Formats: sequence, structure tokens, C-alpha cells
Amino acid sequence: MIERWTSDLKGAGLKETGGVLFGEQIAEGDFRIVEATRQRFFSGSATTFKRRGAAARKDILDLHKRFDGDPERFNYLGEWHSHPNAPVVPSLQDEITMYKLLAEQGEAVNFLVLIIVRLDAEAGFHIGARTYLASGHKLNCEIELEGSESDAAETTPHLNEEEE
Ligand SMILES: [Zn+2]
Repeated sequence: MIERWTSDLKGAGLKETGGVLFGEQIAEGDFRIVEATRQRFFSGSATTFKRRGAAARKDILDLHKRFDGDPERFNYLGEWHSHPNAPVVPSLQDEITMYKLLAEQGEAVNFLVLIIVRLDAEAGFHIGARTYLASGHKLNCEIELEGSESDAAETTPHLNEEEE
């Protein structure tokens, strides 16, 4: 997954790109990212990422079909996008978007994860993640990058107590 992100980021250059995250719950509060979709067009500017609501909804539906009928285990986990020119920290607009998405999900979803990725000038890969809770709190997530073939990223949103 990291290789794919890296090549997406190279392709997007100084424009922001992103998509939705689909996760598998491995244990309570422990998720593996099984898919990170990407928008077909790199329409973002260097400072704003325009999430395409319709495309994102379609991606989520397609993923539900692919991981057929096991929403407790496989489900929409959140969003990812790049910050070509900024640290991998959510902007104020990012946070507003996440709380809005959380509100749209209804009561079935009580948190969403936002992952921000960046390639620096030396092509070094940076990743940051934050979890937004329906209660209005946010948590920094731990991300484990697996070195295996599948190279999935795991997030453990509930384990990190550093609330802001
Ligand atoms: Zn952002």
C-alpha cells in the first residue's frame, strides 16, 4: 500500500489527492486498512483537497459489495489525502470535513479516521493519522506499517490516550 501511495503522490505532484479508507477490524480498536481508493482526477490544488462526495459514496458501496455482507468486520473507516506542501497534520478545514462526514454517517458510526500522507523533496514518505469521535473528541492514532507483501497500514485509534 505504501508503494501505491508513493506512486500516487508522485503522479499528483504538487496537487492534493485522496480517497476513502476501508478497514478490517482485527480486534477491539485495532484496524487494518484493506483498501484506500483514490479519486480519478487530481483536481485538488496545492492547498485544498476537494472531496468528491458522489465518487466517495460509490467507492464505499463498491467496497461493501467486495467485502460482502460482513460490515462488522469490514467497513468504511475514514478518509485519506495528501498534503504536498504541508506537514501531515490535519488543517482546520480537514477537521470540519471530518466532523461533517461523521455526522452524515448517523449513529452506526462513532468514529472516523483521517490519514494524511506526504512525499517530501527527497521522496521520503510521511504519514499522520487522527481519529475523530462522534463525541467531538479527537485522538492521534498509532500507525504501524507492515513490512509484508500486502504492506497494509494498521491504525489503533483507541489505544492512544493523547486527546487534544
Ligand atoms: Zn488536508
